[in-house]
Amino acid sequence: MRLRTRLAVEATAAVNQLSRHIGTGSGTVAGGRVGLAIAPGALADLGRGRTVAVVSGTNGKTTTTRLLAAALETSGASVVTNATGSNMPAGHFSALASGPREAPAVLETDEGYLPATLRELSPRLALLLNLSRDQLDRSNEVRMVAKRWRDALAGSTCTVVANADDPLVVFGARSAPSVLWVAAGVHWRADAGGCPACGGRIRFAQGTWSCSCGFARPVPDVALEERGEETTAMFADGRRFTIHLAIPGGFNRRNAVMAAAAAEVLGVPADRALEAMGKVEGVAGRFSVHSVRGVPTRLLLAKNPAGWDELLELVAGDTGPIVIAINARVADGRDPSWLWDVPFERLGSRPIVASGERSADLSVRLHYAGLEHRRVKDPLEAVLAASRSAQPGVSVEFIGNYTAFHDLLAKSPLA
Ligand SMILES: [Zn+2]
Repeated sequence: MRLRTRLAVEATAAVNQLSRHIGTGSGTVAGGRVGLAIAPGALADLGRGRTVAVVSGTNGKTTTTRLLAAALETSGASVVTNATGSNMPAGHFSALASGPREAPAVLETDEGYLPATLRELSPRLALLLNLSRDQLDRSNEVRMVAKRWRDALAGSTCTVVANADDPLVVFGARSAPSVLWVAAGVHWRADAGGCPACGGRIRFAQGTWSCSCGFARPVPDVALEERGEETTAMFADGRRFTIHLAIPGGFNRRNAVMAAAAAEVLGVPADRALEAMGKVEGVAGRFSVHSVRGVPTRLLLAKNPAGWDELLELVAGDTGPIVIAINARVADGRDPSWLWDVPFERLGSRPIVASGERSADLSVRLHYAGLEHRRVKDPLEAVLAASRSAQPGVSVEFIGNYTAFHDLLAKSPLA
């Protein structure tokens, strides 16, 4: 390691410790920024000589990163990872600086930063989940992101594990020298209708998709079978695994299959990988039930229409009270017009509380969905109000977008 890199690593550790100590953050971004300022080329230096896997896509990155890290830990190595979701260079720097020099790294990577990360870190593996629109006012148009992935992967040496069911991911991934295709499904198709190859229309039918220009779904190396709550992964060599996770949702089981395929590329057999993933409970506070001022509350985070679509599928059929909290700050995207694309109708008949700084916008949306609801702007007050409609023993569901979710955590920190 170069001297400058070593100094940067020491400074990063000091700043992160200070940041945690004075409570200004989770202590990952600030230190990483300082480290990169001291040694701008240090990321490449820290990545050299170790196995690096990157996980990217619009939805499910944080959870899938956690699942893949759990799988790699079964080899006995300590794995470094950006568990708090700081998925840009500063977060990567902090993660790489946090453990032994040779520790394998699993890095959640912002989809816009994937090309730069491929260049700097030369990862052994890239796990590509899905692409859909996110933060209308500040994200790149998704087909542009897919094209940038394609250009970056064409020149890389990494093995790609990619979702064969998402046309945008396939367009981005297929230029890579080696790709393992997983039929991991794509429930949100509203952003995948335009063919990234010719601008024509992608047609989805009978579990596959194609365009008249010849761009079509690749033959998967790993297929999935979903029956109700049961998901089975079928590998091309005939092995079959039923997925059992402690975290809920079909989308998490599908992500686990992708992580299992990735783990095999990195030398961990899929059965061992899946067993380790089954023990992962909460991920950065999400999915598990926490006490919010004494009210048992399941915390869920959704950031964009595809993410809301997944979570509404998860909570459909529940009848307990639910709080939906929406902000529209910079980190959420300033433009909340996406509310009109989310199928809130699926909430059905249950006590609903609209919350967050944009609760008035949400309230109008819920009104047109024909859903009775109350409006309580403060997310903590909203949870307390919702709890008054809960039957004994039934927890409150809370789904917030990014800053609304973190507002609630700030007011009622996890134990
Ligand atoms: Zn086409």
